[in-house]
Amino acid sequence: MREHFELRDTDAGGRIGELHVPRADVTVETPALLPVINPNLQSISPRRLADEFGAEILITNSYIIHKTDDLRERALEDGLHEILDFPGAIMTDSGSFQLSEYGEISVTTEEILEFQRDIGADIGTPVDIPTPPDVPREQATEELETTKERLEIAETVDVGEMLINAPVQGSTYPDLREDAARHADATDLDVFPVGAVVPLMNDYRYDDMIDVVAAAKRGLGANAPVHLFGAGHPMMFALAVAMGCDLFDSAAYALYARDDRYLTVRGTRHLEDLEYLPCSCPVCTDHSPDDLRALSDDDRELELSAHNLHVTFEEIRRIKQAIRSGTLLELVEQRARAHPTMLDGYRTLLDHADQLERSDPVSKGAFFYTSHESARRPEVLRHHRRLERLSVPDSLFLTEGDSSGRDRYDDTWRIVPPFGPVPNALSRSYPLTAEVPARTDTAALEAAARGVAHLLEANPDLDCTLGHYDWPVSALEIVPDRLETVNLGGEE
Ligand SMILES: [Zn+2]
Repeated sequence: MREHFELRDTDAGGRIGELHVPRADVTVETPALLPVINPNLQSISPRRLADEFGAEILITNSYIIHKTDDLRERALEDGLHEILDFPGAIMTDSGSFQLSEYGEISVTTEEILEFQRDIGADIGTPVDIPTPPDVPREQATEELETTKERLEIAETVDVGEMLINAPVQGSTYPDLREDAARHADATDLDVFPVGAVVPLMNDYRYDDMIDVVAAAKRGLGANAPVHLFGAGHPMMFALAVAMGCDLFDSAAYALYARDDRYLTVRGTRHLEDLEYLPCSCPVCTDHSPDDLRALSDDDRELELSAHNLHVTFEEIRRIKQAIRSGTLLELVEQRARAHPTMLDGYRTLLDHADQLERSDPVSKGAFFYTSHESARRPEVLRHHRRLERLSVPDSLFLTEGDSSGRDRYDDTWRIVPPFGPVPNALSRSYPLTAEVPARTDTAALEAAARGVAHLLEANPDLDCTLGHYDWPVSALEIVPDRLETVNLGGEE
C-alpha cells in the first residue's frame, strides 16, 4: 500500500494526484513538471522556478555533484536545499544516464543512495540500466535482471524518509516492461519512472512510447506514481497523461533555449523563423522576435528559457483543468493534430481503450465527437459492453429516424452513432448525450454497427430490425446477417 500518493480525480488514464514527499514536508500536485537543474550550469534559478513559475519539485543529478569535488563538499556540508535555494521537493538522478552514455560510472547503488540521503535529496534513484529501444531481446532481458537486482538492493539501504525511484526498464518489449513494472510494484520503493524513452521521443515514436507506458501501467498498481523520465516537450504531455503518467521532467526548456528554439504546444519553432510570438507569457508580451534576436546570447537564452517554461507549466495547468472537466481526451485530440506522429500516438492510445476504460469516470460533463478517432474512445467501448447486459423485449426496432408504422415491435430504441442502440431510459445519461456533428462519418457509423452487433450477440433470440439512413456497406457488413435492415433514406 502506497500511502504517499493519493488520487483525487481521473479522466481516461489521466489523474490528478497528491504526492506526499515526507523529507521535504511538501505535497506535490500531479501531473507535475520537474524542471531539470544542472548543478554546474544554471539559467533560471531554482528560487525563481518556485516563486515565479510555481515549481513544487525539481530534479538534479547527484552523480554530477558526487563527481565535482567542491560541489560535493558543499552539498554534504550545507545540503542540496541550501545550495540550490529551493523550498520544494528535490529529486535526484543517480548517474544511470551517464552510464548509458559512457558505458560505465564509478558508484554503486548503495553508495549513490547513501550519498543522495546525505546531501538531503527528497527522492533518490538507484543505478538502473537504461536499455535503449530495439535492442535484441536477450540484452533487454539481461539488463532488466540487473535493474531488478539494483531495486532489491535499494530496498535494503537505510535512506530515512527519502523516497526512492524504482525505474521500469525493458526496452521496446511490452511483456518485459510489464514484468519489470510488476516487479517494481512489489518492492517497497515509491515512485516509478518509465525509463529510456528519450530515444523514442527524439525519433517522434509517440506510438511506441504509448505502448511502452501502457505496458508499464499494466504491471503497476493504480496508486503508483508514474514518471515519464526525460519527457519535457509540452506537445506530448496531454497524450502521456491520458495514458497514466504523473510526473515529467524538463531539460528541454533550457536545452532548446540554448539553440534559439521556442516551444509551443503544437511543436518547436526556431526564433529565426518567427515574425510574431504566438504566446501571452510575460516574455512574449514584453518582446517582439526582433527584440529577442537583438539580445546578447546569455540574455536571449534566459528569456527563451523563461518562455519555454511558461508554456510548459501552462500546459500542465490546462491538462489538470481538462481532467477536472472530463475533457482530457478532447485535449489529446487537439494536440494529436499538431503532428502526424502525435496522431499515431493518439491512435495507439485508443488501441488501449480497454485499459483506459477501467479508470475512466462513468459520468462526465460532455462527450464531443471531434474526429473519427472519437469513435474508438473508452466511453464507446463501455457502452458496447453495457449493451450486452441490458434486458431487451422480444422484438425491437432500432432506428436512426422515427418509428411510425413500426407498431408490431414491442419497443423502439434510437441509434446514436458512434454508440449504437440506446434504450430510452439511458438517453439522457453520459456519454449518450454526446455532441456529434450533423454530418456523421463512416467511423461513427461503423462503431454504431458494432454496438448493434454486441446487442444481437448477447440476445440470440431477439427479433430485431435496423432502420438506418444510407449506411455504407462497411457498416452494414458489421451487423449480423439475421438482422433485418431498412434504409429509411431509400423508402418512398
Ligand atoms: Zn511566451
